[in-house]
Amino acid sequence: MPEGHTIHRLALDLKKTLGSEVVRASSPQGRFPEATALDGMVLGDAQAVGKHLLLFFGSEGACVHVHLGLFGRFRPVRAPFPEPRPTVRLRLVGSRACWDLVGPTICELVGEDAVTKLRARLGADPITSSPRPRTTWPRVHASKRSIGALLLDQSIFAGIGNVYRAELLFLLGVHPETRGNELSRKELEKLWSLARSLLARGVQANRIVTVEGATRRTRKRDALYVYRQRACRTCAGGIGSFMCGGRTIYYCPRCQPAR
Ligand SMILES: [Zn+2]
Repeated sequence: MPEGHTIHRLALDLKKTLGSEVVRASSPQGRFPEATALDGMVLGDAQAVGKHLLLFFGSEGACVHVHLGLFGRFRPVRAPFPEPRPTVRLRLVGSRACWDLVGPTICELVGEDAVTKLRARLGADPITSSPRPRTTWPRVHASKRSIGALLLDQSIFAGIGNVYRAELLFLLGVHPETRGNELSRKELEKLWSLARSLLARGVQANRIVTVEGATRRTRKRDALYVYRQRACRTCAGGIGSFMCGGRTIYYCPRCQPAR
């Protein structure tokens, strides 16, 4: 599933290529008939909140809320723009660019109330929130759940997914089963600032790279420390895995000892 960096990058790219101009909107698949209402409106803004994408049209607060889920893709189409495939849920065409949205879990037209509710049910997004985990700390500190599970809880950490959580905990030397209430404020602050810098790096590279010195051209297995890796890059020991928060987590038993 795309993590927060993908959605932030998408918002930036959509804004850059379609923003502030009249956009033709259509739903070739027919499953988003509300596209007709947006056709001919100006795309005013594109924002990411965790893994959710918000596209604001016109001046009345009309917003398209998109969640890509596991299989959704929102990609630019190269000129000359071909006829859309019948699976395209939403096509947006501007004077310079064309984008096709395929297979999202959510694609809905919403108003300001729904946007406010969405923001309220999501936790702070490390990319856009304050440099210190002010609202996140009380939630983590009060919790007996493991930090591995808490990191996937979008109402606490918006935008972190399975790859980033494994990499973050490895870099901090924290065992995934460490409970939220066992972490010190200092540890959470370190986690938060690392999440901010890794996600920002992900937005820039448009993919997840956590290994120091790795770039967007680095082979996948050399770009990550523990996620789906076999041996630890630090101690050469075997990488372990188990189910944590409903997903498989990868960690190094030596570098991330249990407390
Ligand atoms: Zn290790």
